[in-house]
Amino acid sequence: MSIMIIIIVLIIRVTLIMLCSQTNPLIKQKTCDKCTEPGEYYDGRVILKKISSSKRTDTSFRLQQDEEHHLGISPLTRLNVGLVSTFPIDYMHACCLGVCRKLLNFWIGGNLKTRLPNRLVKTISQRLVSLKPYIPLEFNRKPRSLDELQRWKATEFRSFLLYLGPVVLKDVTDLAVYEHFLLFHCAISILISDRHISKYGFEYPNKLLCAFVTHCEKLYGKQFLIYNVHILCHLVDDVKNYGPLDRFSAFPFENYLGVLKKLIKSPTQPLQQIHRRLKEADYFFRINCSQKSLVHLLEHNSGPTSIYTCCRQYRKVKYQNFILCAKFQSSADSYCLIKGDIVFEIHNIILYEESTFLIGKQYVEKRPLYNYPIESSELGICIVDILSEHYFSWSIKDVVSKCLVLPFNNKLVCVPIIHTLTEDSI
Ligand SMILES: [Zn+2]
Repeated sequence: MSIMIIIIVLIIRVTLIMLCSQTNPLIKQKTCDKCTEPGEYYDGRVILKKISSSKRTDTSFRLQQDEEHHLGISPLTRLNVGLVSTFPIDYMHACCLGVCRKLLNFWIGGNLKTRLPNRLVKTISQRLVSLKPYIPLEFNRKPRSLDELQRWKATEFRSFLLYLGPVVLKDVTDLAVYEHFLLFHCAISILISDRHISKYGFEYPNKLLCAFVTHCEKLYGKQFLIYNVHILCHLVDDVKNYGPLDRFSAFPFENYLGVLKKLIKSPTQPLQQIHRRLKEADYFFRINCSQKSLVHLLEHNSGPTSIYTCCRQYRKVKYQNFILCAKFQSSADSYCLIKGDIVFEIHNIILYEESTFLIGKQYVEKRPLYNYPIESSELGICIVDILSEHYFSWSIKDVVSKCLVLPFNNKLVCVPIIHTLTEDSI
């Protein structure tokens, strides 16, 4: 009896899918917001196969040039805004919670062709968990095992895409799968940073994203070509209009929800409470900013002080939007990139005649972590080895960015933390 019910349900489902995809005139096929590529139903989902269809413009939308795309006149047309260009793609949802999560889901639970063997999934999980002690203060969450993938937050997918993925996947997945992931990783790493955009322009990251989308079908099948994957080809247009991805992503709003929640102390008049607390915070922020942009913390006398005598020593310094520590205070927060691509390990922080200096050692050997589609060292990502014997001293003004330094095959991989790239280095 129960088998009969299952068969009937299956027949109804297949019929509905066929109706949706073929004949039902009442159901419009989903098309892309940014181009005229029509969606088609495949395996129970809408896929968009081509990436070369003509692009929609604000004018073509208002004139309803693609009749199939409109169900009527949108009330938003009364606003004096471009109805295509004013609605950029949110990289938090499209790239992190969208494509990155989809890739990981395919590797873990996709069909037999695309799924990674269990032992490799375990290896990736073990590598991720082993990186926990190496995650700096700027990261809200420590890496978790793939067993918990369904509970991963957007920031965890972002960390995987930009920092951890290239390390934990290396020599584990097929080279084709790894290099395909690197197309996505490199493109997003470029598009998230002013500095990388001014170096590579828009054409190159666009080429990487289009290559990523094109190769998706070969590696993962047609069912991978969902809307989130297709719109990667339009991402660069929004970066041209609005700047690096984080300037128009949902991350700041998502992160701030927790802050807003903490401002409410009682159930009455929550909006008024938030308004009052924000006004106070704004007042104190303005006072503090005008007083100091560099904050020295945790004074000590343990050295090393190098050539400096009569100086004050600190374990921690808050500089711009990040914190640097001496290695004995917090190893994970003690690495930075100095002008000239020097990977530096901080052993002490010195205040000498009102200037701040970092005392430490620098890595002598460096080589790229990957060579495709570009040498990783072009993005500042490299395998480092052998520390200098002697101490060096650098002014804090020479810091280009804080770095994440992760263990890899008995060596270390240095990855610049993109949002800490200092303004002077842009
Ligand atoms: Zn499109």
